[in-house]
Amino acid sequence: MSEKDRKRFENRIYLSSPTMHGEEQDFVKEAFDSNWVAPLGENVDRLEEEIASYMGIKYAAALTAGTAALHLAVKLAGVEEGDIVLCSDLTFAATVNPVSYEGGIQVFIDAERESWNMDPVALELALKKYQGRTKAVIVANLYGTPACLSEITRLCDNYGVTLIEDAAESLSATYKGKQTGTFGKYNCISFNGNKIITSSGGGMLLSDEKEAVEKARFWSTQARDSAPWYQHSELGYNYRMSNVVAGIGRGQLRHLEEHKKKKKEIYERYRVGLTGLPVEMNPYLSCSEPNFWLSCITVKRDVAEGTSREWRQVAPETIRLELERYNVESRPIWKPMHLQPVYADRDFVCAAGEDVGRDIFERGLCLPSDIKMTREEQNAVIEIIRSLFL
Ligand SMILES: *Cc1c(COP(=O)(O)O)cnc(C)c1O
Repeated sequence: MSEKDRKRFENRIYLSSPTMHGEEQDFVKEAFDSNWVAPLGENVDRLEEEIASYMGIKYAAALTAGTAALHLAVKLAGVEEGDIVLCSDLTFAATVNPVSYEGGIQVFIDAERESWNMDPVALELALKKYQGRTKAVIVANLYGTPACLSEITRLCDNYGVTLIEDAAESLSATYKGKQTGTFGKYNCISFNGNKIITSSGGGMLLSDEKEAVEKARFWSTQARDSAPWYQHSELGYNYRMSNVVAGIGRGQLRHLEEHKKKKKEIYERYRVGLTGLPVEMNPYLSCSEPNFWLSCITVKRDVAEGTSREWRQVAPETIRLELERYNVESRPIWKPMHLQPVYADRDFVCAAGEDVGRDIFERGLCLPSDIKMTREEQNAVIEIIRSLFL
C-alpha cells in the first residue's frame, strides 16, 4: 500500500474495547423480568458457579471490580499495618494499590524476559531479605501471559507466604494445562470494559477455601452481623456485583473461547507481519497458553535510541504517534511501579542488577488488539508500522 492510498480509519481502531453479542441482553432481561435487578439474584449465583466451574476452582464471589477482589484478597491474606507484600513491578497500579488500603508496604519485584512477569530469582532474593516480615506475594499475569507460576508457587510454599494471583488480564490463559487464577490461595479476575470479556465492570475473588469466599461475600455486603438490627463487628464494604451486571457477564462468558481464539489470531498476524523488523513480540513460556489479551512489541534498543547503523531511529512513541495519525489506538507498556511517583519510597528488588521492567517499558508498545479489527484493518496497521522502519 502506498502512502497516498493509506487513509485515516473512519472508525477508530481500539486497543481492546467491549464486543457484545446480544446474548448478554437475554440474561439482563431475565433480571428485569424477575424484578431482581438488584441487589442479588439468579445471574450473580450462576455467574459465580459458571466461572468457578470453567476455571476449575471451587468458590467464587462476584464483586464490583477486580480491584475490589484484590482488596479483599489482601485482607484475607491478613495484611496489616507495616506488613511487607512482594508485588509484580511491571503491571497496572490496581495490582498493588490494595496493599496500601490495608496499610501494608509493597516491595516491587522485577520482571524476567521470558514472560515479562515476576522474576522468581528476584522474588527469592526478596523473600530472604524480608523473611519474617512478608505476609503475601501478589503476582500478575501481564497482558494475558502466565508468569513462572511453578517456581513462584514453590517459593511461596517454601517460605510460608500466601500467594495472591492477579489474573485480571489473563482469564482463560493456562499454565501447564491449568487455568490462571487458580494458582494463588486467593485469586482475582476482572470484567472491566477492556478485558477479554466484560460485564461492563466487575470482578471476582476465587479460592478453593469456602470460608475465605464466604468471608469476602460478608465484607462485600457491609459486614452485617446476623442480628435483626444493623450490627457490625467488622468493617464492611459495598463491593457486591449487581444482578444486571452479572447478566452481561454470563452472556459474555459464552464467547470467551471465541474471543481468545481471535486474540491469538491477532497476535499471530502481528508476529508474521512484523517479521524482518528489529522488533520482538511479547514472549510467553512454552508450557503456557496465553489468552493474548494484548499484542505487544519491543523495539531493539539501538533502533529505539537511534544508534543503529542498519536501521533508522524508531522509538515506540514514534510508532504510537504515527498510528494515532491514522486513528489507531496503541499504548505504552505499563510504567513499572517502582518508577511511579506515588511509590517512590518503596524498595525494588531485581536479580542481575539489571532493571528489566524499565527496559521493557522504554522499548515497548501495546498494539491494537481489538477483536472487532478486521484482517484488512490489521494489515493496514502492520503496513503503517513497517513503513516507519523501511
Ligand atoms: C484491569 C486490571 C485490574 C483491575 O480490575 P478492575 O476490574 O478494573 O478493577 C487489576 N489488575 C490488572 C493487572 C488489571 O489489568
